[in-house]
Amino acid sequence: MKKFLTGRLGTRLFFSFMIVLFLGGLALTVVSGLTLRGAFNRHMGPMIAAVVPGRSDMMDGGRMGPHVVIVDAADQDILFRNYRAGFLEALFWGGGVASLMALVASILLSRRIVSPIRDLSLASQRIAAGKYDERVQVQGEDELADLGNHFNQMASRLQQVEGMRQQLIGDVSHELRTPLTSIKGYMDGLMDGVVPASPETYMQIYQEADRLSRLVDDLQELSRVEAGAVRLELRPVNLVDVFSSVAKRLKPQYDSKNVQLETSIADGLPLLRADLDRLIQVLTNLVGNALQYTPSGGRVTLSAVRRGGEVLVTVSDTGIGISKDDLAHIFDRFYRADKSRSRQQGGGSGVGLTIARHLVQAHGGRLWAESNGPGQGSAFLFTLPIH
Ligand code: ADP
Repeated sequence: MKKFLTGRLGTRLFFSFMIVLFLGGLALTVVSGLTLRGAFNRHMGPMIAAVVPGRSDMMDGGRMGPHVVIVDAADQDILFRNYRAGFLEALFWGGGVASLMALVASILLSRRIVSPIRDLSLASQRIAAGKYDERVQVQGEDELADLGNHFNQMASRLQQVEGMRQQLIGDVSHELRTPLTSIKGYMDGLMDGVVPASPETYMQIYQEADRLSRLVDDLQELSRVEAGAVRLELRPVNLVDVFSSVAKRLKPQYDSKNVQLETSIADGLPLLRADLDRLIQVLTNLVGNALQYTPSGGRVTLSAVRRGGEVLVTVSDTGIGISKDDLAHIFDRFYRADKSRSRQQGGGSGVGLTIARHLVQAHGGRLWAESNGPGQGSAFLFTLPIH
């Protein structure tokens, strides 16, 4: 019994069907046994009564048909036993064939129920072994089909996460290699006496080390935002304060590159429920990028307007613009439209926009970019819901 309760699902299902069959057969036999005499009396009684002397009034005008066998009351018992034997024989054959069909049906049904579960089990084993492209075939629309669909969704997500993990390792190694190779090159040169031990050399080494340290900070921040581990301190925030704080912070760099920074905020904008520091971080990144990719003499505009239940913030520039192909990728981590240019200019690690987008999304908003193409300037827009 214990083995049955804990055995394989197919066996348990099969035996469950058999138990149902047995109980059905038992009930059929017992109930027919108990009711047979009553049924016999009810259905055969009038015929017998019809031929018992003194009850000929029950002949019923010959409606019983011409083949009614005339018996006396003493033969009723013999008649009943024959009736029962006939009934039992029919029951035996009927029950036998029904049991056989039920047996075949239970085997087929058990297999049909167990087979998708077995497929799921095998697929999950293969996924556990690292084969993330494994999927199961889904048939029908029942709960097992739902389970199969959910399993496939889970497998796709795992595959995606695994892909991102591998990509991240590749990207990080690549990003680390560049400054490390550079530092190593300078040090080799210094040791061999090929590179002069001048302040410029030390400055170059320092800048590469600084890039490494910024990269590590960015990676830490990226892993936090991607894991959704950033805790926002939501408070009522006035966008005017955010704009002036960002403008004040970046003004010296704008001045030294001779790029104009303009801000405009629509009248009567409500306070936003947001994390002030995070909002400043997002805008500093966008306004900083705008400066980086706008040549001297250009202009960057920072504006905010109300649009329905949201506030739309736009950072537009008259800079180098973004091609259609790059537009689709600039929010991917480590993506740079022009790697060499960004590096030469001491650009970031290529995760600034990824982090900014996660932070805006954490506020319940959206961040996207628009550009008419290279040389046409760009605009970065994000929304924040008004609560
Ligand atoms: P980075 O650290 O390289 O600036 P970001 O994630 O901030 O990384 O930006 C990713 C890429 O998007 C940049 O390398 C650049 O190619 C492009 N980009 C961002 N802002 C602008 C802009 N205002 N104009 C043109 N290209 C931009």
